[in-house]
Order: sequence, then structure tokens, then C-alpha cells
Amino acid sequence: MTGSAILHRQTGTTLPRLGNARGLWVTDSEGREYLDAVSGGAAVSAIGHGDPTVREAILAQLDRVAYAHSSFFTSDPAEDLAETLVASAPDGIAKVAFCSGGSEAVEGALKLARQYWVERGQPQKSRIIARRQSYHGATLGALSVGGNPARRALYAPLLFDAEFIAPCYAYRDQRPGESEADYGLRAARDLEDTILRLGAENVAAFIAEPVVGATLGCAPAVPGYLREIRRICDAHDVLLILDEIMCGAGRTGHGHACLEDGVAPDLMTMAKGLGGGYLPIGAVLIGGQIADAIAAGSGRLGHGLTYMGHPVACAGALAVQRVIAGEGLVERAALRGAALRARLEARFGQHPHVGDIRGRGLFLGLELVQDRETKTPFDPARSLHAVVKRTAMTRGLMIYPSGGTVDGAQGDHILLAPALTVSEAELDEIVARLALALDDALEEIA
Ligand code: PMP
Repeated sequence: MTGSAILHRQTGTTLPRLGNARGLWVTDSEGREYLDAVSGGAAVSAIGHGDPTVREAILAQLDRVAYAHSSFFTSDPAEDLAETLVASAPDGIAKVAFCSGGSEAVEGALKLARQYWVERGQPQKSRIIARRQSYHGATLGALSVGGNPARRALYAPLLFDAEFIAPCYAYRDQRPGESEADYGLRAARDLEDTILRLGAENVAAFIAEPVVGATLGCAPAVPGYLREIRRICDAHDVLLILDEIMCGAGRTGHGHACLEDGVAPDLMTMAKGLGGGYLPIGAVLIGGQIADAIAAGSGRLGHGLTYMGHPVACAGALAVQRVIAGEGLVERAALRGAALRARLEARFGQHPHVGDIRGRGLFLGLELVQDRETKTPFDPARSLHAVVKRTAMTRGLMIYPSGGTVDGAQGDHILLAPALTVSEAELDEIVARLALALDDALEEIA
């Protein structure tokens, strides 16, 4: 291994080096330009790159104080950001705990679920139910509830024992003749069956992404599914954790993805779009009954992190959230999302290897298949999704690939999640470049 002192995740390729970026355009150190159709690569840079007001907010806080541990001081930006988040949160959310990213937020939510049942005098309620074909992060707790065998395999002996149910994945799992509503109820029934099998007295929480991101290239819950999940959790006294790290913060055209479903979680995780990529930050939004149980019991959050509530990260995230609110970017995500979807349907709706186009707002996915009629995936060994990522970069386009052997159930996906600030002209360019990249990739694996 030569050329870099970093142990990179990518093997066999030389990564371009970042130069600079503005809006949706990233330039590498050689001067090559890339249109960023996935917000920094992973649905992070929600307001685009180089926003001057965020820069100002970060610099202003740096000039005041960069850091002091949250067990000694709180700060204006952390308090203001928490208030902002609670004010716009789904019903019932009362408090916030900050951290530095998505995986830490999931760890925090799982630990809060555990703490809640201990505070309530029911420490035996400790099992976590999650879904297959999900992603909740890379740390050991988050990986334990992640339903992606390929990502888990290397670490399996270190993971805790979660229980997995079916995802809500209509393209693959809805039966011919079955309505979306009936499919949603059938998919949700797996949760109730699993709670009953484990014994509700042993189950702490169920965790799910309202719109699956990283593993399925965007798979939204069908209407009614999450409401049924909420009903089941309530009926069996199980906490509902919604992971909105990728799909949240306005990306779906709603302030939070679950608002479209009319469902409020007990705990909700945020990260990526919260800080918009300017500085690392994540958050757990905490329901009032959990905050109350803690207040009536031990009185304190059971875990801590050195960088929780980092003043500069919070100042940056607060500025990002103000841009989103001030510029009406949630409404823009709904409008531009519909426009992007229409363009994708026009361009790829009849494409022989595009089996499905799906998503919500500016969170859209394409599922690539060998055969549209039978939905037969491409041979996973050909890694079409990885090839498209590479050909897209050659065409000057950043997209998010996923696929391969996720429970062996499906093939290759492409996720598009451009900044909520994306222009109509950029939408055209995204679709045009994607079409070229897809042709290149299909030719390469033919
Ligand atoms: N949950 C979801 C839904 C995610 O998409 C991700 C990141 N892709 C994570 C958790 C983990 O976040 P991070 O990589 O910031 O730790």
C-alpha cells in the first residue's frame, strides 16, 4: 500500500482529493468538477456546500469559545438548537441529547430505551427488535440492530442479540393482487408476532427507518404501515425508535419523514441533514414520557460523550436549520422531489434494467434489475451498483450505490438525495449524467 497514510475503505482505487465546493458542485484538486446528486455522498450536505451564513455562525462561535465539557457548562448554541428541534419535532418529543453523528445517536437511543425501562422498574424489558435490510450505523450497538449481513459478518461475535423482522419493501414483498394497505398491515404483523413470541415483558423497543436508505437505495414505508407499527408498540408497551438520520431533517418534503405517516416516535435519531456536513453532529429526540421517567428516577442521562453538545457543531447546525426554515427548503424538497421523480420516470420508466423508481421528496431510489418483468436481479458478483458509482464519477456525478447480497433478497440500487437547494437545471443535469453513467456501467458488465 503506497500513496496514503490513511487506511481507506475503498480498495483498488485512487480517490480524488477534495479541492473546494459551492452549492451542488464539488471540484477535486485536479480541477475536475462533480455534480453532487447525493449531498456530499451520503445525504448529508442538505443545504449544499459553502453556505456563507453557516460559515459566519461557526466562526462567531469559535471566536467566543470552541469547547468545554457538557458536564461543566451548557451553551447558547446547544440550548437554542435543542429548543428549535423540540419546537418542530413530532408530537410528544420533549428533550434532546446531542452527539457527534448517526451511529452515536443510535447508540444513545438504544441506551435511553434501556434506561427508561430500568427507571420504570422493569429491567427485564431489554430485547430490541429491528428489521432485516436496514442500516443504523457502524458502532457495535448500532451494527447489532442493523439488518445487513454483509456489514455484520466480520463482527458477528461482538454484536448483541437483536431480533429481526421483515422490512417494508413493497417492490419485492407486496404480493400480486394485494393492496398497499394490506401489504403494510401484513408486513407490520411480523412485529406483533415477534413481540408475542419474545413476550412483551421482555421487549424494550423496536427500531426502524421510516424510509430505508443505505441498504435499499431508498424504500419508503407504504401508507399505513408505520401507523400499524405505532399501534402495535402501544398495545404491547414497546418503545418506537425511528431512525431519521438519512431520511429526516426535511429531505422527504416534510419536516421529518414520520410526519407524512402521521406517526410520532418515542425516540428519534437525527444526524446527516441536521448539521448539513459543516461539522459532525447527531441528536436523539426524546419523548416526554421518557424524560419524565428519568426526571422521576435517577434524574440524569445514563451515558455521556466528550463532544456532546459541542458548541461550534451546535452553532453550525443551528445555522443550517435556520437556512432550511428561512428559505422554505422543506417545501422546496417536496416540489423539486416531484420534479426529479418525473424526470427519472420520463427517462428511466421504460428502461429495461430499471425495475423500480421510488422515494419521497428529494430522497429517491432506482432499483436495477436484469429483467424488469421477472424482477430478476443482476448477478451480485458483478457489483453493478459499485460499477455505476465509478462510471458516474467518471461522468462527473456523485450518487450513492447499494446492493449486492443484502439478505440475498435483491439486486442493485442507486440513491439520489441532492441538496434541498437543487435547481431545475441541476435536476436536468443529474438525470442526463446518470443516464450516461448507467449506459457505461451496463456496457462494462455486459
Ligand atoms: N442510521 C441511518 C439510517 C444511516 O443512514 C446512517 C448512515 N448512513 C447511520 C445510522 C449511521 O450514521 P453515521 O455514519 O453518521 O454514524
